[in-house]
Amino acid sequence: MEALLQQIEQYKQEIHNTPVNGTESLEVYRIRFLGTKGIVKNLFTEMRNVPADRKKEFGQILNEFKQLAETKYEEWKTQVEVQPDVIDTGFDLSLPGTEFPVGSRHPISLMRNRMIEIFQRLGFSVAEGPEIEDDWHNFTALNLPEHHPARDMQDTFYIQQQPDWLLRTHTSNIQIREMEKGKLPLRIVCPGRVYRNETISARSHCFFHQIEGLYIDEHVSFADLKQTLYYFVQEMYGKDIKVRFRPSYFPFTEPSAEMDISCLLCNGKGCSVCKKTGWLEILGCGMIHPKVLENCGIDSNKYSGFAFGMGIERPALLKYDIKDIRLFSENDARFLKQFTAAT
Ligand SMILES: [Zn+2]
Repeated sequence: MEALLQQIEQYKQEIHNTPVNGTESLEVYRIRFLGTKGIVKNLFTEMRNVPADRKKEFGQILNEFKQLAETKYEEWKTQVEVQPDVIDTGFDLSLPGTEFPVGSRHPISLMRNRMIEIFQRLGFSVAEGPEIEDDWHNFTALNLPEHHPARDMQDTFYIQQQPDWLLRTHTSNIQIREMEKGKLPLRIVCPGRVYRNETISARSHCFFHQIEGLYIDEHVSFADLKQTLYYFVQEMYGKDIKVRFRPSYFPFTEPSAEMDISCLLCNGKGCSVCKKTGWLEILGCGMIHPKVLENCGIDSNKYSGFAFGMGIERPALLKYDIKDIRLFSENDARFLKQFTAAT
């Protein structure tokens, strides 16, 4: 009998010390104390071993104990029903979590990657080069004569402390650097940022992006140039696209041409974007001038090649229907977020 009373005291302590947390532990508690084979039930069966003169006393203690166990259970159950998650984990899982914005690719990167990917399919690899360049790699090696207007302070950013250095005005410096390495044949595309001293407006900026391409091997002809670029615009704008080449002049190519594509918006009928012509100018190209090959130590009698270059901003403006080029560099999250799902 005394041992039983001691045992009940221990159970009471256990009930007091059991923390009220969670639906699972509530069920464990219920089975342990109030289940059909639980402690309360077992104690009642002990009743028959209690001497007759103490049965009343024991019954009373047992009833109090039973009540204690039941009260604890009821309290616990009520709390679990009100806020089950808070009790389960200590956290309110229904609260919104901390968001980690993953960002999105910049529209210029999207366009650049798309262009690169098309040329990679034709076996072109990607080459990169410095944005701060010397006169030789940006101008002289490319056959730009001393008096060429591009060298003018009005158009080029020169480095004040080192007048031979400048911010590259095109990505052609990469082509020169790759040609100088002397590994032929050479088939590369050169994407990158370029700088020109231009007034910033909705249509032009003092820096923008270009992608240039270069292919040098024996017997490379203008037909290879045309086919390569035709493949590119078909992949880029669809099989129905029309192209035309117009003769042009660049110091580093001979012959030189501008390539137009039929206007993407009016399909060649004429609209405000194509200035009623039905054509959009997208790139300049030509056969590499023998002088440029020689400048880079390549035998122009043995090797020939073509080169082309285009801006990345303009196709991106057209594709995503953006009206102002300045949006590309303002880092306005409201603008950039719109390209989360763009390709
Ligand atoms: Zn048009």
